Parts: sequence; C-alpha cells; structure tokens
Amino acid sequence: MTRSAPDSCPGVLRLHQAADGPLARIRLPGGAVRPDQLRTLATAARELGDDHLELTSRGNVQLRRVRDAAALADRLDAAGLLPAPTHERVRNIVASPLSGRVGGRTDVRALVPALDEGLRSSPALAELPGRVLFTLDDGRGDVSGLGGDLGVHAVSDQHYALVLGGRDSGIRLPVADAVEVLLAAAHGFQELRGERWRLHEIEDGPARVAGRLGLEATAEPLELGARHEVPIGWFVQSDDRVALGAGVPLGSLPARTAEFLAAVERPIHVTPWRSLILADLDEWAADQVLRVLAPMGLIFDANSPWLLVTACAGQPGCAKSRTDIRADAAAAIAENRVRPGAPAAPAAGLAARDLLVSGRQHWSGCDRRCGRPRGLVTDVVAEPGGYRRTPPGTAR
Ligand code: SF4
Repeated sequence: MTRSAPDSCPGVLRLHQAADGPLARIRLPGGAVRPDQLRTLATAARELGDDHLELTSRGNVQLRRVRDAAALADRLDAAGLLPAPTHERVRNIVASPLSGRVGGRTDVRALVPALDEGLRSSPALAELPGRVLFTLDDGRGDVSGLGGDLGVHAVSDQHYALVLGGRDSGIRLPVADAVEVLLAAAHGFQELRGERWRLHEIEDGPARVAGRLGLEATAEPLELGARHEVPIGWFVQSDDRVALGAGVPLGSLPARTAEFLAAVERPIHVTPWRSLILADLDEWAADQVLRVLAPMGLIFDANSPWLLVTACAGQPGCAKSRTDIRADAAAAIAENRVRPGAPAAPAAGLAARDLLVSGRQHWSGCDRRCGRPRGLVTDVVAEPGGYRRTPPGTAR
C-alpha cells in the first residue's frame, strides 16, 4: 500500500483547516497533563478557540476554531506543552491510564517520559508520520488492542511482549530494555516505510522490523483484541488513595469544567476512550469532586448511555458531514433512544427522531466513519436518504 498524499495530521504548528475554522491538536504523551497545563489549555480554549477541549482517541486534546495560531503556540510552549517543535506530531504515546495505581502487572508510567525523550532527541524520528502510535500496556490489555504500531505489553513484572503492527510478535524483552527496543523499532520502521504511514501497511512489516532488531520470537503470541472497559467511577489505588474515572460526553470538555478539574491540583490523564482519570485523591477530596463535577456533566456512572456513544466531528466542523451528527446523537440519548443490550437490526432511511440504537455505537456524518473505535460497534451513518443503522457483523 502506498500513499499519494503526505501525512497531514494536525499539530500546534500545523493546523488543520476544518470547516468551522483552524483546528490544533496538542500531544499529551501517556495522556498526562499537569493541572497548570490543563488550566492553560482551558484558558486557550476560551480566549482563542470555541470554549471546549476536544479529547481524542489517542488521549490527546484538540482545540477548534483557533483564532490566533501564534498566540496559541506561545502559550502552549510556555506551559511545556510544545517541548520539541520539530517532533510535536510524532509524540503519540498511549499508556494504561491507571498503571501503577490500580491493577496491572507492572507500572509503565516511567516509560512514557523516557520514550518521549528518546523520540525527541532523534532528528531522524522527527520524520515519522504523525499517525504512528506507540502503546505501553501494563498487562491489563487496555491499550494493546487499540491498533498501535509499536508497543510493549507486560507479560509479568519482569518482561514485556513486543507489539508490532498491533499484534504480539512473540518476542519477549526484559523490562529495562523496553524503551531502547521501541526506539530502535521506530528507526527500523522509518527506514522501511517509504511513503507508508503505518507499520501494518508494509508487507511483512512487523517481521521485517523484528529482523532489523535481530530479535526472534520465543513465545506463543498473545491475542491482543480490542477491549472496551472505560475506567469510570471510584477506584481505590494501591496506596489507598482514590482515582476517579470520568466520562466526557462525546469527548467535548467545556473550558469551565477543565478549570474546575485543574483546581483539584492532582494528576490528570486523558484516556484513549475520551475520558479522564483524576488520581491521587484522598477520600474527602474525591467525594467533593463527585459533588461538584457530576452536576457539571462529567460522567461517574459506568451505566450512563453517554458511554455507549462516540461520534465524528460532523457539522459544522466537517464539510463532508450531512448533518449535525453530535446534536442528533445527544438528542437520541436525551430521549432514551440509546440503550444497553443487543444491537438492533439493520435499517436504512431512518429519520434522526426515529433512531433507536442499542449497545456500543459510532455516529458518522458520512461513510468515512472517522474516529470509529475498534471492536464490536453499531455504525450509525448519515446518508442522503436518512440514517443507516448497521450492527456489528453485518455487511454494509
Ligand atoms: S466521518 Fe465524514 S462527516 Fe464525519 S468527520 Fe469524517 S469525513 Fe467528516
């Protein structure tokens, strides 16, 4: 597979010209954002954008309708959110968001800054496509199934599986070698890729990268399927403090809510499921957060229908969209037409007001289905004659 166009992933220094205005994407390796950085993002969203932070499926943040790109870059730079202008678009690292605090076989948190530093210090790796994704999974299996390019997956507290092209390569690494091997694999991919953006697009790409590393499989590969277990609600950490998982309706976080989150002054992680983790709280503080932020729209109930729904940008952000897809999805939720349970039968030509959709679902303004999560998902696609509802496993 070859590409006819260069990779056009947006960043802070290269904005995407969306239908509703310039869009900036800010990379947050491992989804980690300090309270002062979140405050900076919230202020920038209010003063330079559309008053919202858009959470992405890679644990990054986007600002829409950016009015002054230079002022935005200056603010983000001052907050430490633009540490390497030459590498800003290649810092796509997702990590198990609860690692080191709740569950998991090991703690991958220290790998994030080490890998980020290794990427940023290599001039050759500035040329990686912005679509390349690194995954650091602490063994619980939450991010290895996200379809990354290069990653590690803990198989014990001493060893990682090397994940290439989203699959376990069968290669096993000592924990201490993980970052060095991932960086070497990134160089190998960069040397092999030609015009291709993703490792799976290269014929025998994973095997060829492994060959360049001089590593061989020593174990039966694990199945690393897509999982959908968004961490929502109250989690007791291994140090007896509390982590709160919060859903964000359609991944759109109002600037004011972000400022309240920042004011808690605790570590914050943006997850690849467009939700948040607020960590290291004592019980009293966690209780106060629930009291204040649940009425502001954050979701702490794992059974909320909002958690079943993802949606593309739709109108007015995307010129290809046939409708305001997010407004239609929000109306369906408000009117109890989004429900748990088995997917409903295929149907087409449906008016928005008649749509009833069960189970995990992704709403799209056209057939490209941008942002569709992996796994078993009902597609709800706007077509010229109305909505088409396609449950998983059905030919489209
Ligand atoms: S799925 Fe279509 S309408 Fe939605 S963001 Fe992608 S291109 Fe635009």
